Amino acid sequence: MSNEILFTQENREIIEHLKNEIIKAFSETEQPAKDNIALHECEECRGVREDFANVKWQEAINELLENNYDKIPLFSPQAFNYFLPAYLLYTLNNFDDEFSEVCEFTLYALTPDKSWRNQNGDISSYWTEKFKLFTFAQMNSVYQFLELAKQNPIYRYNDASSIERAFDRLKEIKAAGEKLKKLS
Ligand SMILES: [Zn+2]
Repeated sequence: MSNEILFTQENREIIEHLKNEIIKAFSETEQPAKDNIALHECEECRGVREDFANVKWQEAINELLENNYDKIPLFSPQAFNYFLPAYLLYTLNNFDDEFSEVCEFTLYALTPDKSWRNQNGDISSYWTEKFKLFTFAQMNSVYQFLELAKQNPIYRYNDASSIERAFDRLKEIKAAGEKLKKLS
């Protein structure tokens, strides 16, 4: 019902604009070799390697993403950087589908959970590694994506505060990762 608010012509244009930004920002990321798609040895991760081997993110079909809606956390940092845009575009193309698991889990994958800092208060390397390869333009499109998701009435009901938290945490994670890069 309140979806009408989001899907005004103006908002549709914002969504289309962001889709183009994503396509541009991720146009030159390097495709991971099959072994580098997921680094863990288990059946689930092996399945992810099989499913995404030799897939260009621009050519990832809906069925592949739907079958792997909850697998984003299993991607290596390189594969996360490479395949995330396919999930972002799927979500934006299905922005009014409140039952889409791909949309729901794409948002989860961008929402650092409470273990994002370890007991010493340091940001967990799991998260700094995840975003280490992201360029400024790529991070920017992720932030814009979260901003739009926050405004989406169908997400807002449950998730406004968690999306806001994700936004703040990702900024800190990226800043920490950049600092580490300079030190190394
Ligand atoms: Zn595994």
